[in-house]
Amino acid sequence: MLSKIIDQRSIDVVQDRIDEARRIVIVTHISPDGDAVGSSLALYHYLKGLGKKVSVVTPSPMPDFLLWLPGAQDIYVHSEKKEESDAIVSDAELIFALDFNILKRLEGLSAAVEASKAHKILIDHHPYPGDCWNLVISHPEICSTSELIFRLICRMGDFNRIDKFIGECIYTGMMTDTGSFTYNSNSPEIYFIISELLTKGIDKDAIYAKVYNNFPADRFRLMGFLLSQRMKIYDQYPAALLTLTLQECENYKYQKGDAEGFVNIPLSVSGIIFSIFMREDVDKIKISFRSTGSFPCNKIASECFGGGGHLNASGGEFYGTLEAAIQLFETALPSYLSFFEAEKDKLI
Ligand code: 5GP
Ligand code: MN
Repeated sequence: MLSKIIDQRSIDVVQDRIDEARRIVIVTHISPDGDAVGSSLALYHYLKGLGKKVSVVTPSPMPDFLLWLPGAQDIYVHSEKKEESDAIVSDAELIFALDFNILKRLEGLSAAVEASKAHKILIDHHPYPGDCWNLVISHPEICSTSELIFRLICRMGDFNRIDKFIGECIYTGMMTDTGSFTYNSNSPEIYFIISELLTKGIDKDAIYAKVYNNFPADRFRLMGFLLSQRMKIYDQYPAALLTLTLQECENYKYQKGDAEGFVNIPLSVSGIIFSIFMREDVDKIKISFRSTGSFPCNKIASECFGGGGHLNASGGEFYGTLEAAIQLFETALPSYLSFFEAEKDKLI
């Protein structure tokens, strides 16, 4: 039996709004990851099963390793079909916003969602939800939005409506947001949920292989270059910096999604508790942050790079050269010394 994480009033509001709505849209964040796509498609299949007209709209495309997810081909990508996507959003009576907290994370799709007259329900696990939502279901203590969707469906009395497709989507989100259950994954209820999903016929080993054993060989050549030539370990801090220029990415035929997981690698180095990865893109530097323990990635992400995210996994952007982004980071690093020191006892 699962504990009741989502309050009953929220469950009742969601239930009433679903009952009333005919046209429902699900939106999720830019550069959607496994949890964003998994939670969105799980809710999509559930609502379709109830006979609703429902669409999923993402601001930008998902990485190729998620394209196998059931329903992935039905998704509207705003950056590819702007007018159609905007029209779907403006026609919606109910919008579910999944796996992000503030409108800015929708980038090009944010204007349509903001302007929409639809009732807007946020379901998310990032801290600091924005104030533009009619209902906020925000649980940063939960490992993934996909887990929240499982809990929501069950609390609405519809465990029986969770089929293999929905189960695959939920499991993918739970797996990817916990690094295959290697962080943020100590809650026993995670494993209760997985056992329930297995009864629905999901093949968890096959899902792992589809997501993680599905990269082009050049990704690993790029990874080799990155780790041997572009990984800096700081002497004074238990921190590591990874960097890649656009040219370096092109040298290894970089495709969207190829750098997935790179930022986590330095955390496997003994004594490293904070890792930052800067990748030069055509118009900006994309930055990822990961940490262990109490070290607040999201603080550095928001204070230095206009971003945010979770305590141990965050993202941000920098508009300027890679060198300037590195300099900004290294100048700021000393001001986070107290957070490193708070973790000192745990270092070997
Ligand atoms: P990633 O490093 O995988 O791109 O992102 C890690 C986490 O940080 C994810 O939970 C993602 O939603 C969040 N995140 C990534 N980029 C940004 C950003 O620019 N702004 C905010 N607020 N969160 C971000
Ligand atoms: Mn998530």
